[in-house]
Amino acid sequence: MRKYDVNDVIIVGAGPAGAIASKTCAEKGLRTLLLEKERMPRLKLCGGAVSTSALSHLDFGIKDNLIERECYGERVHFKNYQIEVRRKSRMGILVSRDKFDAYIVSKAVDAGVELHDGEKVTSITPKQSRIVVETNKEKYNAKVVIGADGVNSTVSKYVRDSYKPDELGLCIGAEIPASNEAVDEYIDTAVDMHYGISKFGYGWVFPKEKHFSVGVGGILYSMKNPRNIFMTFLKNLGFSTDVVTHAHLIPSGGYDREVCSDRIILVGDAAGFVDPFSGEGIKYAFVSGKLAAERVVVSYENDDFSKQALDSYKGLCYNSFGENLKYSLRLTKLMNKYPDIFFRLLSSNKMVLDKWLGVPAEGMEYKEYIKWLIPRVPYFMLKTLLHF
Ligand SMILES: Cc1cc2nc3c(=O)[nH]c(=O)nc-3n(C[C@H](O)[C@H](O)[C@H](O)COP(=O)(O)OP(=O)(O)OC[C@H]3O[C@@H](n4cnc5c(N)ncnc54)[C@H](O)[C@@H]3O)c2cc1C
Repeated sequence: MRKYDVNDVIIVGAGPAGAIASKTCAEKGLRTLLLEKERMPRLKLCGGAVSTSALSHLDFGIKDNLIERECYGERVHFKNYQIEVRRKSRMGILVSRDKFDAYIVSKAVDAGVELHDGEKVTSITPKQSRIVVETNKEKYNAKVVIGADGVNSTVSKYVRDSYKPDELGLCIGAEIPASNEAVDEYIDTAVDMHYGISKFGYGWVFPKEKHFSVGVGGILYSMKNPRNIFMTFLKNLGFSTDVVTHAHLIPSGGYDREVCSDRIILVGDAAGFVDPFSGEGIKYAFVSGKLAAERVVVSYENDDFSKQALDSYKGLCYNSFGENLKYSLRLTKLMNKYPDIFFRLLSSNKMVLDKWLGVPAEGMEYKEYIKWLIPRVPYFMLKTLLHF
């Protein structure tokens, strides 16, 4: 791509949101440039749980060698309570994000996307008839920019204020080497969740190929000493604390932020589209990436890249998953206000947990779950108290 050419669209960031947005744009015939600051494959701290519901939004399969474990269930802990539910159908897969993301990006490149990795976007400047994107290496022109550059998004600064501290979670985690036999013995094909150890968050142990992915996350303001919280978590589980840790922010509770301005659309974490209860973001990265690309195609046909035109994308997101994130936030607040009721129910009653697993497994809406759960709370509490 020569620097004075005008691209139809530039996508900033080659995570799941940028990969799917760029793939969709290229498939629709747009000249698409994808800029990624790291060299692919790049490290990304993540549990790497990709739900069956998330996978249903892809129009290609995931190569077997990327699937480190399949997930059929969940074990949940809260205080002294512990329960485990296994399902017949697969709830999701466990992957390493470096390889998984590189694979999705390769699908975008196959579709015709021009990838420039190792190139960091430093500024963008909307003009009358184009937008100028400057990187550490080059200057490019485009009709429109899709900001898929994650939670610390540079592009989002041209759309809205930065996240406030109560709109962010902080996660700290590590990969703990283990033999596959040790992983099987601990949990094999399920995930292990520990509630009540951080505010608006949890600890996790996910089984992977020859290692565990272990971490703790919670709302930023409550994670005063994340390393201590994490080390205590590791010690309590009997894991070594001699590990290399990584920390990463995650957007929390966002479904109603500004996501467009003239010639700019935000997707994935840059837009704040993460489930506040589970921390699931890959699904919303896929869906918002696709919706943004489809919106860009319409703008291209009408040659209208104004905020007013692009704003219909926000409505599309709300209809697709925004309401679900809203109910997830309500449930999160409720659970954190009354943890002894709700986390106890989740960790002591198989029906409550099994129904809950319908969210990642079948894409069940939180609204439906809340409607099911609330009237049953007194019965389930009684059942828990009386052990019947
Ligand atoms: C610890 C942790 C565990 C998680 N576990 C899960 C999980 O198990 N399942 C799940 O569904 N979700 C999980 N999430 C959430 C999930 O990781 C994110 O929601 C998801 O990665 C969002 O995808 P994205 O493409 O929007 O952003 P990202 O995956 O963050 O990708 C953004 C990309 O933009 C690039 N970039 C940034 N700035 C620039 C720039 N200036 N120029 C060029 N490129 C740039 C970055 O290098 C990066 O490659 C987890 C998050 C954290 C922090």
